[in-house]
Amino acid sequence: MLAVLTGGTGGAKLIQGLSLETDPAELVIVCNTGDDFVFHGLHISPDLDTTTYTLAGFADTERGWGIKGDTFATLEWIGKYGGESWFKVGDRDLATHLTRTRLLNEGLTLTQATEKIRKALGVRSGILPMSDDKVETRIRTPAGEISFQEYFVKERWSSEVSGVAYAGVAKSRAVPGVVEAIRKARAVIVCPSNPVTSIGPILAVPGVRQALEETPARVIGVSPIIQGAAVTGPADKLMAAMGMEASSFGVAKAYADFLDTFVIAPEDSSQRNRIEALGVETVATAIRMNSLDDKKRSAREVLALV
Ligand code: GDP
Repeated sequence: MLAVLTGGTGGAKLIQGLSLETDPAELVIVCNTGDDFVFHGLHISPDLDTTTYTLAGFADTERGWGIKGDTFATLEWIGKYGGESWFKVGDRDLATHLTRTRLLNEGLTLTQATEKIRKALGVRSGILPMSDDKVETRIRTPAGEISFQEYFVKERWSSEVSGVAYAGVAKSRAVPGVVEAIRKARAVIVCPSNPVTSIGPILAVPGVRQALEETPARVIGVSPIIQGAAVTGPADKLMAAMGMEASSFGVAKAYADFLDTFVIAPEDSSQRNRIEALGVETVATAIRMNSLDDKKRSAREVLALV
């Protein structure tokens, strides 16, 4: 079994490759839920959905979110009624949110609801939320504190950020399978996901970081930063706001206590010595994943390290 820690966009690219290059049933994927929020009364879990749709084979890989070929008639009509429509929910995607919300209202945990949805969609990999408890990534801006989705989608990460907090995390508990997967895995893969808003919340759930430090499995990370810039989204900006160096080195430093091997882009080879000085073995190879071939190749490189 391979344990995989992920957010949405960048993580899903590697996960798609991994699912095609190894037996998907071997993967147990731990998703960030710090981005979860309520929209029109529905419980939305963006990273769980992106992961599930990717593994089910109908993710919209062009956009990086939602379902391929989805339509937006419901959202359009919500807009006619003056309702909020900044978060793009497709008609088919809406069925997922309605189902999850119904299952949660019936008393199921987020883990159980996720399990039902993944099975219904024929996904063979395990998909676990990091926690069943509410953990909310809050972004501090000059205008006040906002949720990650407000910052990321509504404001298109235009606000200046002075801090990031994971509200509720100290009291949260990891879903039982999470710590177990990390401790028993053949290897742990930390996806090229945002270190502040995707991997950060998972690491902050009590017990997770310790499991990563103690696991006998090799922990392999892939850098989401290439030449000091995020490939997509605001990871570089958020890292700088958190006082981290926005570089592959900065990511490696944030993970150095548990990381055995870090995969960086060839363009960042000059950072190799600094990363190795942290006690982290470093491999430089192509990790920009634009095409399906790129994703499969990056996955093969990671699997070769397992
Ligand atoms: P999200 O923030 O919830 O959408 O999901 P992630 O945290 O998984 O994805 C965002 C991160 O993925 C950003 O830090 C990007 O730099 C990274 N990313 C996106 N595409 C690629 C890629 O092709 N290669 C690598 N190495 N990183 C990528």
